Amino acid sequence: MTLTKKILIALVLGVVAGIGLSFVPGDVFSAIDEYALNPIGQLFLNLIMMLVVPIVFVSIVLGAAGLGDPLKLGKIGMQTIAFYLVTTAVALSIGIGMGYLLEPGQGGNFPIGENTYEEQSAPPIMDTLINIIPENPIKAMSSGDMLQIIAFAIFIGIALAALGDKTKRIHQLFEEANDILIFLVNLVMKTAPYGAFALIASAIGDAGLDALGSMAMYMITVILSLILHGAITYSLAIWALGKANPLTFYKGFFPAMSVGFSTSSSSATLPVSMKMAQDNLGVKKSISSFVQPLGATINMDGTGIMQAVATVFISQVYAIDLGFSDITIIILTATLASIGTAGVPGVGLVMLAMVLNQIGLPVEGIALIIGVDRLLDMMRTSLNITGDAACAYIISEKDKRKEAKNTG
Ligand code: ASP
Repeated sequence: MTLTKKILIALVLGVVAGIGLSFVPGDVFSAIDEYALNPIGQLFLNLIMMLVVPIVFVSIVLGAAGLGDPLKLGKIGMQTIAFYLVTTAVALSIGIGMGYLLEPGQGGNFPIGENTYEEQSAPPIMDTLINIIPENPIKAMSSGDMLQIIAFAIFIGIALAALGDKTKRIHQLFEEANDILIFLVNLVMKTAPYGAFALIASAIGDAGLDALGSMAMYMITVILSLILHGAITYSLAIWALGKANPLTFYKGFFPAMSVGFSTSSSSATLPVSMKMAQDNLGVKKSISSFVQPLGATINMDGTGIMQAVATVFISQVYAIDLGFSDITIIILTATLASIGTAGVPGVGLVMLAMVLNQIGLPVEGIALIIGVDRLLDMMRTSLNITGDAACAYIISEKDKRKEAKNTG
């Protein structure tokens, strides 16, 4: 059986087991979770997380060295960032539109008096931008600061390309390190079905279905918006810009989407998403290794959708009208907020607080959605990494066409 099939089965079984577990008594569930699901899930998570920093570093060095020309790198960088910003703005608009259409905060009985939410501060955008260049690259690696690792790796790659033969042994060393890491990703992926099953069953069993209640409409609005964005925006982009078949894309990338679903972390899923893009979709290594790690940090369309729907939802629950300028501010702040916040579970809520603050909506409103956020985090993370891969796929297809034209 192929890995994709195994992961699909694990996903379905994980959801079924999770729903079943939400009916068993709390202490029985805790025991099963503590001694079986959680250890298996965490082991799998650690196995892939272990590979993230080395893979991002090594593959970006090789990618930048392979592209050679810093101008080409700059061009791909600009295209990538433009794609990310535009698709995030579209995602937010879909979320806001669906929020007004389905009105998830209207009519329900929401306990708004009793809420408290302890706000955590998101990093200011300017700091993030300045700090892209790391003062200490080793520290950046040990703390897993993705943007800094990317910047340092690009510098090394450019130097390798410029020095050519003089550094060919180090170049070779990076190639070999890359082979080792790819070997390890393949190995770790063999455990993915078990890890994914355990993580999904644990998350769904823990959240429980009774938490849904009055939040069902909010969840439906977020989920429909995620599906719309995935099915329409990316498909159109792949078809119109990449001149490729969206179905081929989704079929090839599916295993990574399900790992994103089970881990709720774009960063942790990186090794898998890069592998699927390169092996199943034929995305050029030099492009995938640059575009996808960047996207795991700065591009979060699924998170944007949640924030947009949540903002409209909270405004409806508290009966505060949003004007056109508020909506513009939501789109701008949420797009900017997504840059600089790492792709890890739950970060979307921290960013949401920032958006709510900007337009003066009560941050305590977040307390209403926390209960169901874990489940939505799984789905939006899947979409987050899909956006990164779609961008890599489109740029790679364009590049291949250009090369074919030049040689033909
Ligand atoms: N978990 C998401 C990710 O890693 C971020 C979020 O929305 O919380 O992509």
